[in-house]
Amino acid sequence: MAWLRGNLHAHTTWSDGVKSPADLIAEYEARGYDFLAITDHENLIPTSYWRSLPQLPSRLLLFHGVELNWPVDVGGEVHEQHVGKVLGDRETLHVLNHPARYRLSVAGTIERARRIGRDGLALDAVEVTDTGQHRPLYASGEIPLVKIATDDAHWSAHFARAWIEVDAPRDRDAIIRAIRAGDFRLGFAP
Ligand SMILES: [Zn+2]
Repeated sequence: MAWLRGNLHAHTTWSDGVKSPADLIAEYEARGYDFLAITDHENLIPTSYWRSLPQLPSRLLLFHGVELNWPVDVGGEVHEQHVGKVLGDRETLHVLNHPARYRLSVAGTIERARRIGRDGLALDAVEVTDTGQHRPLYASGEIPLVKIATDDAHWSAHFARAWIEVDAPRDRDAIIRAIRAGDFRLGFAP
């Protein structure tokens, strides 16, 4: 099986990205990627979002997704934790996004994932990146989540800074299952 390269976190003009969905797809196609998830912010997407996603032509394998604002109680104050939701055909991957942006410690990340799980959302993975920049603190084995890298692409400087290569057939559910199983490697641009 060939390794498939992908980005599981990207934004378009449907929320706060600068590229149209078609241009975002073209960008990753031109870079030789095999798969891409469009994950616009749930609070910014138009009502046509879920209807429009399936109509996008793409040579790469496209995942439909969304970035959730998950409320977490921090000392009586509600903070919003971004959670990536990447849909396969039957499988769904849930990602604790960029803990570095919230300046979470390793213990704080574990606690946050535990609370989100207790509130009903079972996380699969955590980003060891913040907008494509490597944050190896979160690769800690103490965090009981799979460690992934994404671009969180909003504009040009963000494309192809961090990626995942998965050892799986070219199938959305197979890719998600391989990620859960840890059958992948991460790459970071120098
Ligand atoms: Zn994002």
